[in-house]
Amino acid sequence: MERGDKLSDWLRIAEYIAARGAILALDTLLVAFLIYRLLLLAKGTRAYQVLIGLLVFVLALYLSDALGLETIHWLLDRMTTLGPVALVILFFPELRRVLETIGRVEFWRSSFGVSPDAEPIQRAINEVVSAVQQMARDRIGALIVWERKDRIAEGNGIELQAEATSPLLRTIFYPGSPLHDGAVILRNAEIVEAAVYFPEISQNPEIPSSMHTRHRAGIGVTETSDCVSIIVSEETGQITVAVDGAWTQNVDADHLRRLLSDLLTGEARPRILERMGVTLSSVRKNRAERNANKRTEEKTA
Ligand code: ATP
Ligand code: MG
Repeated sequence: MERGDKLSDWLRIAEYIAARGAILALDTLLVAFLIYRLLLLAKGTRAYQVLIGLLVFVLALYLSDALGLETIHWLLDRMTTLGPVALVILFFPELRRVLETIGRVEFWRSSFGVSPDAEPIQRAINEVVSAVQQMARDRIGALIVWERKDRIAEGNGIELQAEATSPLLRTIFYPGSPLHDGAVILRNAEIVEAAVYFPEISQNPEIPSSMHTRHRAGIGVTETSDCVSIIVSEETGQITVAVDGAWTQNVDADHLRRLLSDLLTGEARPRILERMGVTLSSVRKNRAERNANKRTEEKTA
């Protein structure tokens, strides 16, 4: 009899789960997605320490109860009602950031894989062109790497979340600024990281000997991802643009603006390479030749 009851209990639960399965799955997925996005946002914040503190608190609450320390337990128990308020106060800046981000159209666009709005990017392009033009004139070395589809932020620099404006870019690269060494990484219309050091530089033997580590690092990163590098030479004030391991030197402001618009707001890539004086096939040919050379070198060695 009792057994039958238990069985029917289980059956009822199974029925309930089956009926609500789709809703439960959707619910779980939504919660997982939310936690994922929150974790991404919380990365590198104080959340981690607070989490540890919370853990210690819960442990103390449990132990005080288990050991019969009534007063302490009563006190801690009272404090749990303050918990949510305390969390809001502790995380006020982060919460504001989260709400601001969720409120922005960009968050939803990127969440659903829709390419970002072209207008802020166009604005950022104008800012970058203006900064690059002034830095070239003032002979201030700079390396700006603009992400496209691939994520290349290294995490070894200083993470930022700032609109890409000309004054900010020039401030970052200003000699003596703590962030001036290394590259700035842009994503859409934002600076996401500064003072980034790329562990690998290009080994392409066709790179002129006048181009050293800044140029080689800038070209190298475009060999392994679809980003665009903009390099300002401190020595010559020349602007170089690199994409797909190919580069074009001595770019002026108008040309730079056109190149960036084409590359970042989604025009076909082969046209760009043509305009840069390099075709996709010749890039491939060069790469194949390089590999063949390397192989014969290895054989003779
Ligand atoms: P320039 O024409 O401006 O002198 P360059 O190609 O001659 O450039 P270097 O003179 O070697 O190159 O430039 C050194 C600077 O380049 C470093 O101070 C640093 O800011 C940057 N740099 C060098 N290597 C890297 C790297 N791997 N990743 C990011 N930035 C780098
Ligand atoms: Mg140099």
